[in-house]
Amino acid sequence: MEQTRRLITELPGPKARALMERQDAAVARGVSTLMPTFAVRAQDGILEDVDGNQLIDLGAGIAVTSVGASAPKVVEAVQRQVAEFTHTCFMVTPYEGYVAVAEKLAEITPVSGPVRTALFNSGAEAVENAVKIARAYTGKQAVAAFDHAYHGRTTLTMALTAKSMPYKHSFGPFAPEIYRVPGSYPYRDQLDGHTAAARAIAQLETQIRAENLAAVIMEPIQGEGGFIVPAPGFLKDIVQWCNANDVVFIADEIQTGFARTGRWFASEYEDVQPDIITTAKGIAGGMPLSAVTGRAEIMDAAHPGGLGGTYGGNPVACAAALAAIETIEEGRLDQEALRIEKLVLAHLEEIQRQDPRIGEIRGRGAMLAFELVDPQTQAPDAALTSAVASAARQAGVIALTCGTYGNVVRLLPPLTISDELLEEGLTVITDALTAA
Ligand SMILES: *Cc1c(COP(=O)(O)O)cnc(C)c1O
Repeated sequence: MEQTRRLITELPGPKARALMERQDAAVARGVSTLMPTFAVRAQDGILEDVDGNQLIDLGAGIAVTSVGASAPKVVEAVQRQVAEFTHTCFMVTPYEGYVAVAEKLAEITPVSGPVRTALFNSGAEAVENAVKIARAYTGKQAVAAFDHAYHGRTTLTMALTAKSMPYKHSFGPFAPEIYRVPGSYPYRDQLDGHTAAARAIAQLETQIRAENLAAVIMEPIQGEGGFIVPAPGFLKDIVQWCNANDVVFIADEIQTGFARTGRWFASEYEDVQPDIITTAKGIAGGMPLSAVTGRAEIMDAAHPGGLGGTYGGNPVACAAALAAIETIEEGRLDQEALRIEKLVLAHLEEIQRQDPRIGEIRGRGAMLAFELVDPQTQAPDAALTSAVASAARQAGVIALTCGTYGNVVRLLPPLTISDELLEEGLTVITDALTAA
């Protein structure tokens, strides 16, 4: 596919409009869609719609298609595997691909010592299973999550997720024995990492107590919550406290994993070794797969037959994962994430110098965002944020927002996007900001 933005109709075009009508009549409105069009193919930085428009992809399907949405190795591996067999159920008749993915995760995840992996289908399912395993290992029940956390939309993971609208509103009651403590949000709490960690630990000790606490779960960069990078030292202090108190530390690297931040996993920046890591999103080049990887002693606390699921570690998804990981390794996509970081930061910092509505630019690698605020009060400006994102979408750029206050524009391009497309996509977004 030619890697250029091209709008030949307004968005939505006539074919997209017809599909929207069918969607409205057939698809539940709870599943809402952002882009005013429908996809037909995608490669690297470009997604083509049903009317022949070519859009710049700055979302990668929410940090999933880091290797591109049709990476040659992934396509080839999927085609080969799908013709061999589509499914046996690993719990019935196992196959090599599942084992090979577990071996690869043992190699690349920053969990120390012998590790074991179990595979599932979605990120939320991985988080659910990490909690089950931590409870089985510790014999304790409570789980602590942080302000601004996002861990999924199933019943247990909704309870772990912080933000009510749209994730939790009207869907309760929520799972018991889930507790929330303050995290680290340097732009808004002005605390250094050690002070923020001490505040969280004080609450863990008084409101839960270590002898009741099975696990602490945390995203090393909070994704849906606003691309919040904790202050230096925060994560390390929390992990040390967990280690000293027989509490399993679960790093939810579902959004940050697989070279997205410029390293295999964002925990590496914090110099911590989680007990368990949950992964999904970027793991398999767009095929649904997730994993729980953890210290063998913890993982094996779950009894035989206690973990699994019909589709978990589907063979086609496993073939895709092996190919996606190989693509990241051979293409040095970690370096590409750092290339993207450099270009995006230079562009955004230039704009910020003239526009104090950009309160903060933050993130790592190809996981970057800016927070839009009232320049006087730093109050979040969600209306401006959604106006900027929707203007960018109308102009053919897939732009995402996030944040507890809905005031963060986030960038998650495929790691294979060209400098030219990235620069053009950013210009569309920042021009929309200037015009707003
Ligand atoms: C997306 C996400 C999840 C949930 O993953 P699903 O595949 O949508 O269930 C959990 N945790 C984090 C950090 C995520 O970004």
